[in-house]
Amino acid sequence: MKVAVVKESAPGERRVALVPETVQKLRQAGLEVLVEKGAGDSAWFPDGAYTEAGATVTTTDNLYATADVVLTVTRPDEAALGMLRPGQAVIGMLAPLTDPHLARTLAERGVTAISLDGLPRTLSRAQGMDALTSQANVAGYKAALVAAEAYGRFFPLLITAAGTARPAKLLVLGTGVAGLQAIGTARRLGAQVSGYDVRPASKGEVESLGATFIELTSAVSAAGEGGYARELTAEERDAQQAELAAHIARHDVVITTAQVPGRRPPLLVTADAVAAMAPGSVIVDMGASPLGGNVAGSVPGEAVVTANGVTIIGAENLAASVPTASSNAFARNISALLLQLVAEDALKIDTTDDIQAGVVVAHGGEVVHPAVAKLLAAESANQGS
Ligand code: NAD
Repeated sequence: MKVAVVKESAPGERRVALVPETVQKLRQAGLEVLVEKGAGDSAWFPDGAYTEAGATVTTTDNLYATADVVLTVTRPDEAALGMLRPGQAVIGMLAPLTDPHLARTLAERGVTAISLDGLPRTLSRAQGMDALTSQANVAGYKAALVAAEAYGRFFPLLITAAGTARPAKLLVLGTGVAGLQAIGTARRLGAQVSGYDVRPASKGEVESLGATFIELTSAVSAAGEGGYARELTAEERDAQQAELAAHIARHDVVITTAQVPGRRPPLLVTADAVAAMAPGSVIVDMGASPLGGNVAGSVPGEAVVTANGVTIIGAENLAASVPTASSNAFARNISALLLQLVAEDALKIDTTDDIQAGVVVAHGGEVVHPAVAKLLAAESANQGS
């Protein structure tokens, strides 16, 4: 069976789906590995390192013409979609709940689509495949560094002959995987850190990192399914925003990471909350997206300075900016999933298996993932009415 690694093409994407170390593991499992020329360059894995690990470096055309399984970090671009053939499989982070049309296109082309973001994360045998977690860890780490870089003062308490600098007060809103890693990194840089989340379970995790957990008096417990948060009602959201504003104004740096699966990121920092911050404050919005992020006025991929001197950084895809670490982790995740799916030198699709039920999106010409199929059906019903 031939497994191929493509060169990512999305703007700013520096990750690669397999690194030489994982090529070696797949070779040991009897798989042949093809690598698109230059696939690992941006993550500092040269073609030669793949060849040494037992892969064949090849052209784009040859890769799509001969591969059985194509491994990617994010979704295939239009050119790649045109080259995928019936019977081939593509595995990557395809975000089918935000982009169900891609799943339909792949199904129509007879391509099997497998998406790591559907993995049942609480299943212990799936943890080594959990790319959402590994990439959120990298992104959370980088968010603290991005904040430190943009902040005009020190993070730690510094006592020098030239005076004493007080530590930065940093608040992390949304303390899941990325938020906890941002807290840990900011603490190591010496900031005084607080955290807040709507899932009550996160209080203990925040405190175990030596940060203070902020509890709101209007506190809603919004634990949803599978360890995720649920979307707040409009009243809950208004109460939360109003109460958070006072906490935000007392902090120098705010990092937001809040996400609700399949929904646009919740707005946690309103324009009024930004206006109440001191000049020189920094906000890093990891939820920044074209649909809006966690912070009013954040622009994906840009740093905006408000009239009152607050820098709002729309931090998109931070994991891609630490490409070697994120690719190393992603490669372990995707190869663990791949090996789980392979039997007798072929992919064995069986959606009665817990893991496969979560990750297999399209197979045999159909969109087989129920949640994705439901989104597509709802859309056609809307168009029909
Ligand atoms: P996520 O990226 O979906 O969201 C980030 C955080 O934002 C979450 O903590 C969420 O509660 C929070 N959030 C959402 N709406 C909010 C709001 N209105 N206000 C404040 N915070 C809000 O989450 P994630 O980082 O992927 O992790 C979610 C959960 O899954 C966590 O409980 C994590 O521990 C759990 N998890 C478990 C495993 C496992 O068991 N192996 C693996 C990964 C994650």
